[in-house]
Amino acid sequence: MMPYFTYERALRAEEVGPALVASGGRTRVLAGGTELVPLLKDRLVKADHLVDIRGLVDEMGGILVGEGGGLRVGALVTLAELARHPLVRANYRALAQAAEATASPELRNQATLGGNLLQLTRCEYFRSGAPCYLNGGQVCFAAEGRHERHSIYPRGTSVSVNPSDPATALLAADASLEILAPSGATRTVPIAEALKDPDHDDPRFLALGEGELIVAVVLPPGERASAYAKAMERADWSFALASVAVSLAFDGEGRVADARVVLGGVAGTPRREPAVEAALTGRRVDRAAVVRAAQAACQDARPLPGNGYKVELVRGLLRRALSGLASGSEGATGRASAV
Ligand SMILES: Cc1cc2nc3c(=O)[nH]c(=O)nc-3n(C[C@H](O)[C@H](O)[C@H](O)COP(=O)(O)OP(=O)(O)OC[C@H]3O[C@@H](n4cnc5c(N)ncnc54)[C@H](O)[C@@H]3O)c2cc1C
Repeated sequence: MMPYFTYERALRAEEVGPALVASGGRTRVLAGGTELVPLLKDRLVKADHLVDIRGLVDEMGGILVGEGGGLRVGALVTLAELARHPLVRANYRALAQAAEATASPELRNQATLGGNLLQLTRCEYFRSGAPCYLNGGQVCFAAEGRHERHSIYPRGTSVSVNPSDPATALLAADASLEILAPSGATRTVPIAEALKDPDHDDPRFLALGEGELIVAVVLPPGERASAYAKAMERADWSFALASVAVSLAFDGEGRVADARVVLGGVAGTPRREPAVEAALTGRRVDRAAVVRAAQAACQDARPLPGNGYKVELVRGLLRRALSGLASGSEGATGRASAV
C-alpha cells in the first residue's frame, strides 16, 4: 500500500532546493515517478511530501542548441524525446541508442533523463528491502550471494552496478551536468566527476549535494561517430547485463584521432577503458583493429564467482559496436544470447 504523503506542483526551480533542505530529507522531488513511486510503495524511500517538477519546462525542459554548438538537454526531457530528437540522433547517436534501449516504450514516454541518472541500484536484495549495506545494514548480501548481474570491478562495500543506460553514453559523449544549488547558484560539472559508487550515506550513483537539482545535461560540440550496444536477458523492460558506448573522432585520413570507450553494467560507475581507446587511436576501424580493441577490454576485471561471463560479453558488445561504426549500420542492442 502507498504510504500517506502530501503533494504540490513546483512553480519555480529556485524554490525547490530550499524546500528540500528545510524538510530534512522528508520532501522528495517527483519527475516521471517511474522510479520514485515504486520506491515509496516498497518503503525503500520515505517521504511526507512530494514536489512535482514536471511543470518547470522553461528551466528544465527542451533540447536546445548550445553556445558554440553542442546541445543542452533539459533534465525533464523524456527518454522517448531524447531517442527521437533529430540532432541527438545525428550527432550523439550512442545517446539516442542508449535512450531507445532503456526500459519499454511506455516507460520511455514517462521517464525523464534527470530521474534516470538518479535511479537507485536494481540489486534484488536492496529492492526486496533486505537489511543490506545500501539499506542501512552492514553487509552486501550480493557479494556472497546472487551476483550474476553485479560488478566485475568490486570495490568499496557494495557490488552494485550503475543501471543507467544513458549515463554510459553520456560519459562517452563527455557530457556535463548543470546543477542548481539551494542557494540559487548554478554549476556545471563533468559527468565523469559527478558519477560515484553508491554507499551507506547516499545510495545514489551521482554526487549531488542536499537540495540540489539536475536542471540540464550539456553535450559538447564536435563531429564524432558513436554507437551503443547493450546485452539484456530479454529485449524489452530489461537492464543491461553489460553495455558499451563508443565515441570516435577521425582525422582526415579515416584514422581514429580520439577514442572514448565506456563500459556500462560492469561497475559501480560507467567505466572508461583506456586500453581499448589506446588500441583504436591512430588506426582505421578495420576488422583487425576491432578484434584487437575488443580483446584489450576488461584485462583488469576481477569478476565475482558468478559473473565472469561479463568479460566475454563486453568484448562481444565492443566488436558489435565497433563493427557497426565501421560499416555505418544502426541497431546495436539485442539479447545476451545474440552477442
Ligand atoms: C520496468 C523498468 C525497466 C527499466 N529499464 C531500464 C533500463 O533498461 N535502463 C535504464 O537506464 N533505466 C531503466 N529503468 C529506469 C527508468 O529509466 C527510470 O525509472 C526513469 O528514468 C526515472 O525517471 P523519472 O522521471 O520517472 O524519475 P522519478 O521516479 O520521478 O525520480 C527518480 C529519482 O530522481 C529524483 N529526481 C528526478 N528528477 C530530478 C532532478 N531533475 N533533479 C534532482 N533529482 C531528481 C527523484 O527525487 C527520485 O529520487 C527502468 C525502470 C523500470 C520501472
